[in-house]
Amino acid sequence: MKKAIYLQIPLFLLLSGTYSLAQKKPQQLPEFQTKKTETEAHMRFLAADELMGRRTGEMGNFVAARYVAEQFRKLGLSPVAENAGSNTASYFQNVPFEKMGASAAGEIIADAEIMKAGEAWLLMNGGETNLKAPIVYASFGLEDAAKSWDDYKGLDVKGKIVLIESGTPDPQTPSEIIATSIEKRKLAAAKGAIAVIELFNAPVPWNIVLRSFGGEKISLAESGNAAAPSIPHAWVNGKEANYARALRAVKEVEFKTSGRKARSINSYNVAGLIQGSDPKLKDEYILLTAHYDHVGVGKQGGQPYTAEDSIFNGARDNAFGTVALLTAAEALSKNPPKRSVLIVALTGEEVGLLGSKYYAAHPLLPLNKCIFNLNSDGAGYNDTTIVAVMGLDRTGARIEIETASKAFGLGVFADPSPEQGLFDRSDNVSFAKEGIPAPTFTPGFREFNGDIMKNYHQVSDNPETINFNYLLKFSQAYTYAARLIADRKVAPQWTAGDKYEPAAKKLYGK
Ligand SMILES: [Zn+2]
Repeated sequence: MKKAIYLQIPLFLLLSGTYSLAQKKPQQLPEFQTKKTETEAHMRFLAADELMGRRTGEMGNFVAARYVAEQFRKLGLSPVAENAGSNTASYFQNVPFEKMGASAAGEIIADAEIMKAGEAWLLMNGGETNLKAPIVYASFGLEDAAKSWDDYKGLDVKGKIVLIESGTPDPQTPSEIIATSIEKRKLAAAKGAIAVIELFNAPVPWNIVLRSFGGEKISLAESGNAAAPSIPHAWVNGKEANYARALRAVKEVEFKTSGRKARSINSYNVAGLIQGSDPKLKDEYILLTAHYDHVGVGKQGGQPYTAEDSIFNGARDNAFGTVALLTAAEALSKNPPKRSVLIVALTGEEVGLLGSKYYAAHPLLPLNKCIFNLNSDGAGYNDTTIVAVMGLDRTGARIEIETASKAFGLGVFADPSPEQGLFDRSDNVSFAKEGIPAPTFTPGFREFNGDIMKNYHQVSDNPETINFNYLLKFSQAYTYAARLIADRKVAPQWTAGDKYEPAAKKLYGK
């Protein structure tokens, strides 16, 4: 019987290699033929010292983006972005950022209390400033018409400095406090205030606040920060009772700073499309993502470094996932699954998941045609017998992910270290928020412990410390999982009751 079937296949189809038997054995699929030297070469390039830690908006970051784009070109992926100002297609989606310089020198003087910038306070916004003005206390500096709550009620702050508390009366996470802080600055400016002094009281040690916010800061250009009136805004260490007391007691304050300079920079998400093979299902697609940016060199890394080694190579975080993405690009383009596959290498993850946030707000294909996002990102690994998947049991594709991993001798560990909230700490969350089932496929670990921290955001995270046998298997398992999901009869669904399920209902209209 077998012989007869072969005879019916036209010769040109056999020769062209595009004919695939419906019952093709998995071992015949291209991802089972990926060579270790291919994945190793990608890793050694992307995490090379010459790429200087791939920091968003810097040359090494552009070189990495270029590398990914030219791999897409070689493999025949279709460009779906547009070249700025023309109608020609491009692999590069331009992502505009604003970069604010490192914190400035200066003083805030309240009577006898002289507070120095970089010690007692941090400038969060504003250029060169030399003010002496009345100061008005405005509680949390918020208003909420719906709750008839207005901290500015009866206050005239025109031409004055506003003194406020950080956060809200309800507890907030540190990232919420930061977002609220920007809102407060906008509101103060709208009320006519000329500066904001905020007593910072969040449950974060002050030295960590100084380290985390004193350095260069990158944000999306369109976040509204740039457009808002740029009044100077200081965070003063509110836990230091002397400062709080002095600022509350005086009528007038001196506020002097050399300012933090802001400028526009660009970086790129790199996107390529593989058309699906099924005439009906190819209108839908699966989105594969991994961030290719890392943190840079020296001080930019925010961790110890030496003169001999100051480059944060980001081999695990996240050249590893980018190699998996390139492996998928090659294997899935050689033998496309039923649904289409959009592959996007993301920038700006390390500066706040910004590349994926931008992409989700400016998708290159309609998001409601995207059935699934398989993101790959990781801090590192300490178990090369498994992969770890954040959101495995929430996103409806456990069987495919387990089948694919098993094919390469790997087990699957669901949601290690739940206390770390890892599901919401990578780019998948930008797509989950839109309603797309979006787990993150991560190198193997069961616990976020010292073994992981040894290389996580350290200069030692370089290709010399990578297990290349594992990199190959990981990339193959990722690719095969993507294929199995893209071939599914029915799209995966969020587990009932998941916090992202309402967004899914809105996105897919069911
Ligand atoms: Zn990462």
